[in-house]
Amino acid sequence: MAKCVMVLYPDPVDGYPPQYARDGIQVIHSYPGGSTVPTPSQIDFTPGDLLGCVSGALGLRKFFEDAGHELVVTSDKDGPDSEFERELPDADIVISQPFWPAYLTAERIAKAPNLKLALTAGIGSDHVDLDVAKERGITVAEVTYSNSISVAEHAVMQILALVRNFVPSHRWATDGGWNIADCAQRAYDLEGMDVGVIAAGRIGRAVLRRLAPFDVNLHYTDSRRLPPEVEAELNVTFHPDVQSLVQAVDVVSVHSPLYADTRAMFDEKLLASMRRGSYIVNTARAEETVPEAIAAALRSGRLAGYAGDVWFPQPPPADHPWRTMPNNAMTPHVSGTTLSAQARYAAGTREILECWFAGKAIRPEYLIVDAGQLAGTGALSYQK
Ligand code: NDP
Repeated sequence: MAKCVMVLYPDPVDGYPPQYARDGIQVIHSYPGGSTVPTPSQIDFTPGDLLGCVSGALGLRKFFEDAGHELVVTSDKDGPDSEFERELPDADIVISQPFWPAYLTAERIAKAPNLKLALTAGIGSDHVDLDVAKERGITVAEVTYSNSISVAEHAVMQILALVRNFVPSHRWATDGGWNIADCAQRAYDLEGMDVGVIAAGRIGRAVLRRLAPFDVNLHYTDSRRLPPEVEAELNVTFHPDVQSLVQAVDVVSVHSPLYADTRAMFDEKLLASMRRGSYIVNTARAEETVPEAIAAALRSGRLAGYAGDVWFPQPPPADHPWRTMPNNAMTPHVSGTTLSAQARYAAGTREILECWFAGKAIRPEYLIVDAGQLAGTGALSYQK
């Protein structure tokens, strides 16, 4: 018998289940590149349901209970008196989502001597201290590709929202105004701009593909260059490093994983080297920036806009500078948790758990840390 502690975001303020806007979701069988969507033996939820909150329990309550395992689901995750910390000491498995991360720091892992599996229902396991997980022999896994396209769509939306000055214009409309000049004074066309991505992995490549029809000049940097035929197909210019990329573009979209090389990458110096009036969209991780430097660059006009959905910490305090900085189009961390994405990462979480309990190999692309070292996707993402 195992004990699993699942940390999920709170239910909607108006209660659970919500009134859904649509009657179902589209069915997707495979991802770009051909790998299949998750293939658990069965699922106990209706795709399209809200699964990522406490009452949704990732559709896994029956799975755990039928097998006689103990399942604790909570959103109370921060501080030593949180339910998460109280339940940690005898937990074998922790499941968390990047949108509402249960930070598994070295101190917390030390309080969890039984912990063997840290599972991310989604993508991005930087909320787990991966070095300590390696030392302790904890397997870290995530549901690679489950929400990559969801994030790419959000990034493209936020690029357009910034460049077209959507948020202030929407506000004029809902406030009863008709102030065309106020809306137009910061609105541009994306067509013809230089647009670049930092990291052309699953999400970055999907953003490039989606932006190509806008007749922009595409750029990218990545620790490994794309095959020449992909560069040619997308008509995208490679830059050897972040510095050269940001100087060549009007819009930059960040899609690199968070680790030592990318931490605090957008600091005052890098921002000062960008074209005046640049836009940044960051759906990767907030810690890849220096938050105060971003706010200062917006105030000075070096940046014309900043958007994204990732913050630190999550949730951020009410007085976080990004809530009130000018010309931002931020959302909470929602891009990867559409109802469409939830169905995939809930099924992927179950697939990983089924493998784990049966002693079968987890798909290599789902592995971040295994057998004391970075493995699978982790070996590619979290080191040069
Ligand atoms: P991938 O692993 O597919 O792609 C990451 C890419 O980053 C790889 O191509 C990797 O190159 C490249 N890379 C690594 N280090 C650097 C560096 N220093 N400079 C430039 N490129 C680098 O990941 P995804 O595209 O699926 O996800 C990317 C990130 O997006 C995740 O790590 C996560 O933090 C974030 N994310 C955010 C979500 C949200 O809801 N906002 C949801 C999902 C993910 P190589 O392969 O050569 O090492």
